Amino acid sequence: MEMDDHKRRRNMILYVLIAFALYLVLSTVLFPSMRTQQQVTEVSYSTLLTDLESKNVDKMDYTAGDSDVLYTRKGEDEGVAYRTTAMPGAEDTLSQLIMESGADTSVTIPSNDSGTWLYLLITFAPILIFILFGWWLNRRMKKAMGDDNPSMDFSSGFGGFGAGGLGKSGARIVASKDVGVTFKDVAGQEEAKESLKEVVDFLEKPERYEAIGAKLPRGALLVGPPGTGKTLLAKAVAGEAGVPFFSISGSEFVEMFVGRGAAKVRDLFKQAKEKAPCIVFIDEIDTIGKKRDGGGFSGNDEREQTLNQLLTEMDGFDNKKGIVVLAATNRPDSLDPALLRPGRFDRRVPVELPDLTGRKAILELHLKDVKVQQPVDMSAIARATPGASGADLANIINEGALRAVRMGRKLACQEDFEESVEVVIAGQQRKSTVLSDHEKQVVSYHEIGHAIVAASQTGSAPVTKITIVPRTSGALGYTMQVEQDEKFLTTKQEVLNKLAVYCGGRAAEELIFGEMTTGAANDIEQATKLARNMITRFGMSDEFGMMALGTVQNAYLNQDTSLTCAPGTAERVDDAVLKLITEAHERALQILRENKFKLHELARYLYKKETITGEEFMTLMKRENPFMPKPEQQG
Ligand code: ADP
Ligand code: MG
Ligand code: ZN
Repeated sequence: MEMDDHKRRRNMILYVLIAFALYLVLSTVLFPSMRTQQQVTEVSYSTLLTDLESKNVDKMDYTAGDSDVLYTRKGEDEGVAYRTTAMPGAEDTLSQLIMESGADTSVTIPSNDSGTWLYLLITFAPILIFILFGWWLNRRMKKAMGDDNPSMDFSSGFGGFGAGGLGKSGARIVASKDVGVTFKDVAGQEEAKESLKEVVDFLEKPERYEAIGAKLPRGALLVGPPGTGKTLLAKAVAGEAGVPFFSISGSEFVEMFVGRGAAKVRDLFKQAKEKAPCIVFIDEIDTIGKKRDGGGFSGNDEREQTLNQLLTEMDGFDNKKGIVVLAATNRPDSLDPALLRPGRFDRRVPVELPDLTGRKAILELHLKDVKVQQPVDMSAIARATPGASGADLANIINEGALRAVRMGRKLACQEDFEESVEVVIAGQQRKSTVLSDHEKQVVSYHEIGHAIVAASQTGSAPVTKITIVPRTSGALGYTMQVEQDEKFLTTKQEVLNKLAVYCGGRAAEELIFGEMTTGAANDIEQATKLARNMITRFGMSDEFGMMALGTVQNAYLNQDTSLTCAPGTAERVDDAVLKLITEAHERALQILRENKFKLHELARYLYKKETITGEEFMTLMKRENPFMPKPEQQG
């Protein structure tokens, strides 16, 4: 409770400051007359007459025919005025008297007709506002503490007030019809959908499960790499079941006021209980659900409290009512084990990267929103994008449509989507990078080097495209290889072949120009990673055999491995990696030496055309006589 007191005090200070500011604004801007206003005293007509006779009147505001008289006395403050009503029919006498008294009638004495009550209003309005505002604030604070009556309004309330309206949970509440997403909008992911169908069924008919005595999972954890549609799936569950969807993102818990996180969780579940059956969705749960450190000075009290509150709430609700908590993460290994205990997120729904058919389905789903020029074939795109997530694929379709607009066309065509695959994978074409002639030649030989090594080995994925158009990502060119079918297993020979392909670029440069360039940096990185994995993870070395020497740090994010072996062993691993790469480099050099004619011929062709297709490459590659006239010389 100390936390709440602290918060109250903080809010009190805020409240006083705001009220004071309001007072200043009102008194200076809205009621400026307050300072210049006359203080008017009502007097009798005879008092006026007496004042006039004794020549006591200083200034006078009087129009003949009007009975209202306003005047100030000599020797008194200008701000004090007297008001009286002239007797009817006494104008002549009054005029005479005024003349004699020598009063100044040429001025208008400012007066405020609505007089006293406005004066009161001006004085008390700010105080009233002050009190009302305080009452309102207090009520809101109570709500945040959770000790107010249960009627909550779901409007965003006092928007723009910094912390999402002082004490509100900030959870976005979306009515089911607004979710607008069903399983139809999620392509691929059949297994995930299958296991979530049960949740939908439960939300639709909780009685059926209760009748038989089945306990349904309180929570399901959607686990998978970024962009695979976890958030989309959670929404689709709510959409399918037609229940409200309460969603909050783990990062939203990291807020400006200490102690807010726990209050938010409490508030979220309170609202959910009122609206049950419903879905509570916690996106990016790893931000609050990280493993708690054992003791010590963690300095992350806030997160821990939020997590504890979440655990308490998950244990606390009566799930006969039909509340299902869904959460999403791409770092399941970092979650606190308490979250994964039975009765909490005991069900795991893997949401993996889509396979070939999944990719095609996702592409076709998103293609529906785009006007296209037939024929378009999404299976070609799907084959070219192994490892792409649903979000990447959606992006490819969009980039394709954007390209069509850039080209001034009304319909998008196959070529747009093919180009956008490269955009998403390798970055935009960079037209402004002008390579020197020599550089362009080096890049041509480099890329053809990769391609020839790939084509000369059996079991390498066919080359589908070679280009030397620079990309915004920094690549000066690249060779695209696409597997004919989806592959789940790779043999040792195939891995070795791949290593040689990585080495092919540099090997060609050395062979032809006898020099090295920085252009092979990425190849070297990839090759080293692959060679290291062969030894530490795939058990593909004679020296270490099936001994695991590394662990994958984060299976869903970057597959980074860390070595788990003695320093002496690590040294030997390095030696073995070096040996693998050196051998692959030798092999690549050997292949290129044997195909030196082809290398020259193809590199020159690529240099001229800048981009060539896989078919062009293969026809030239297979052609018997390298001295035959080249296609570009004919045209
Ligand atoms: P995650 O939460 O897993 O990071 P999202 O659910 O936010 O991913 O997905 C991002 C976007 O990618 C979605 O809005 C959707 O357009 C697209 N997307 C991802 N997966 C799929 C899928 N299986 N089917 C259709 N669209 C998808
Ligand atoms: Mg997400
Ligand atoms: Zn290369």
